[in-house]
Amino acid sequence: MRVSVIGGGVAGAASAIALRRATDAEVTVHEAYEDPAGQVGSFLSLAVNGLRGLDALGCLAEVQAAGFPVALQRMWSASGKLLGEVPRGRRASDSLHSTTLLRGRLVELLRAEAVRAGARIETGRRVDPADLDADLVVAADGIRSATRTVLDPAAPQVRYAGLYSVSGVSEGVRLTPGTYHFVFGRRGAFLCVPAADGTVWWSAQVPSPEPPDPADVTRGLLAELYGKEELPLSLIRAATRVDRPMPMHRLADVPVWHDGRTVLIGDAAHPVGAGQGASMAIEDAVALARCVAGVPDVAGALAEYTRVRRPRVARMTRAAATNRASKTPGTVQRRVNDLLMPLAFRHVYARSTSWLYR
Ligand SMILES: Cc1cc2nc3c(=O)[nH]c(=O)nc-3n(C[C@H](O)[C@H](O)[C@H](O)COP(=O)(O)OP(=O)(O)OC[C@H]3O[C@@H](n4cnc5c(N)ncnc54)[C@H](O)[C@@H]3O)c2cc1C
Repeated sequence: MRVSVIGGGVAGAASAIALRRATDAEVTVHEAYEDPAGQVGSFLSLAVNGLRGLDALGCLAEVQAAGFPVALQRMWSASGKLLGEVPRGRRASDSLHSTTLLRGRLVELLRAEAVRAGARIETGRRVDPADLDADLVVAADGIRSATRTVLDPAAPQVRYAGLYSVSGVSEGVRLTPGTYHFVFGRRGAFLCVPAADGTVWWSAQVPSPEPPDPADVTRGLLAELYGKEELPLSLIRAATRVDRPMPMHRLADVPVWHDGRTVLIGDAAHPVGAGQGASMAIEDAVALARCVAGVPDVAGALAEYTRVRRPRVARMTRAAATNRASKTPGTVQRRVNDLLMPLAFRHVYARSTSWLYR
């Protein structure tokens, strides 16, 4: 069987490894850009569900070595009150800890592993699914997937989510190692984590009705937006690098994931957010390869893949929508949250997230 994978990001590279390991298919990955860092997210965290997917692909240890473990997550109110401390990306009983690393490094490792597994990777050209002479086309072409509209001309369009993200790196600010910090700021959420090299990686998530002009998003603007929040402000002041702002996008549920030959995976099918996009993409890759290996015909395998994946992805999408709403509360809601969140984190959080990490 000949397989063409469109896109060499997390989903595309992981599916190439998975298909090579589970089947004897000839796999070619077509990726528009040579640079694995691409345009998305300077750093990301893989939760244990994504890490277990990498274990199934045989590259867990390598990815762990390229990043650092983060065991805990602390949530802070805008006024600096500790709202809760929870295990990050895992259940409390799980000895596997979430891993944070540069997104480009993850993609680089996955592409190298795909080549070792026997896949071919062709970079530098944007391909059209109609031109691909293959028995199976895996469309891992990201949130702006063109294949999505080829499969269904009425597929939903990507929309700006009313939020942009700015990442940065700071030096000289000491934070507890192995702990991720999430600040519910008055004018945006702020996430930060001490990296293995002693720097602090951070990301500001700023609500804005329109996508910003990158030139307007200066360190001065960030210092103004987070001027009343001690930790974010200290990190913005100590920044040695501030990346370009990245508008965040959302996509309504995609009704058609496949036809008889082509299937959408990763962000092309479901850009879930909530720090689960890459983990879900890895899960997709493993599940797809299992279906292709286990069902004799491609059309049947793709129908089975969709049947297996849809309920979990739908549940994750709902969880992510709740998560997004909690990042941008109004003043009154923020005060209510400050009172209720400590209780929620203590009594509800573990029960409401354990389905994801099992
Ligand atoms: C700011 C930010 C922070 C994030 N943090 C996290 C996090 O902490 N944890 C997490 O799990 N997820 C996180 N994510 C989400 C995660 O990055 C994505 O869900 C994941 O990278 C999706 O991978 P993908 O392979 O599906 O898509 P992409 O990474 O978008 O890859 C698609 C690839 O397809 C290529 N392509 C598209 N069309 C064609 C074509 N016609 N021909 C050839 N190539 C093509 C593109 O060049 C691209 O390389 C974050 C995202 C952002 C924006």
